[in-house]
Amino acid sequence: MTHAERQAALEAIAAEVRDCTRCRLHATRTKAVPGEGDASTEVVFVGEGPGYNEDQQGRPFVGRAGDLLVKLLGSIGWRRQDVFITNVVKCRPPDNRDPEPDEIAACAPYLARQLEVLDPALLVTLGRHSMGRFMPGARISQAHGTVHPVDPATGARDALVLAMYHPAAALRTPAIETESYRDIATVPGVLLEARAKRAEHAGARAADLIAPAEAEPATAPEPESATEPLPESEPVAVGAAVTTRLSDEPGDGDIDTDQLQLF
Ligand code: URA
Ligand code: SF4
Repeated sequence: MTHAERQAALEAIAAEVRDCTRCRLHATRTKAVPGEGDASTEVVFVGEGPGYNEDQQGRPFVGRAGDLLVKLLGSIGWRRQDVFITNVVKCRPPDNRDPEPDEIAACAPYLARQLEVLDPALLVTLGRHSMGRFMPGARISQAHGTVHPVDPATGARDALVLAMYHPAAALRTPAIETESYRDIATVPGVLLEARAKRAEHAGARAADLIAPAEAEPATAPEPESATEPLPESEPVAVGAAVTTRLSDEPGDGDIDTDQLQLF
């Protein structure tokens, strides 16, 4: 998909979300909050559900938790418009209560479809309910800061997931805020790891396509620059469509070493 096609596909999902009545949360919302960001980003942040400000504005993470998220992103040199930000449920639970399991289940297809379109290399979950979609059974006190492969059934075909505490929890508890800065500091390195894995998988697919009879064990297409240790001073930019994508135009599946460069 081109950038414009991804934007259009995300807008189509957003339009459905704004009209959605699939669960009881539609009855009490002011505005649904589909999510927003760069349609070609490599990194998707998934929160829990809209709060008061988000419900008023129809945009994710625009209140105090959002201000902290922007600060956390700033600490690694990223801006909110460089990534895509969305939530597990798209409508505000009344009085900021937790979303119910049946509400999360009703809303899940929207997140799955967003992830199919975005095809991110890295997912960052914010809080327990988001973590629960991608690391079932994990406990946040243990799992925050850890990285796992994502089940493609979630919609994200080839991604890693990093769990973080919810920024609202960090606002309440200074020790959690400290942990959140530590966890986000690992994100650029994890993105490099995720890019390298995707390049490896794309290389394996290309080898299969070219010589199915020879079906050798997947060999990585030498993603050297992505596996070298990062020089401390080099920031990793979150690039638009830097990773190889399964579904791009012919030729995009080829390994282009330029796509792996550090910025
Ligand atoms: N908290 C969330 O989980 N999501 C938002 O969009 C805002 C606050
Ligand atoms: Fe629809 Fe999700 Fe909103 Fe429920 S929370 S009404 S499923 S968009």
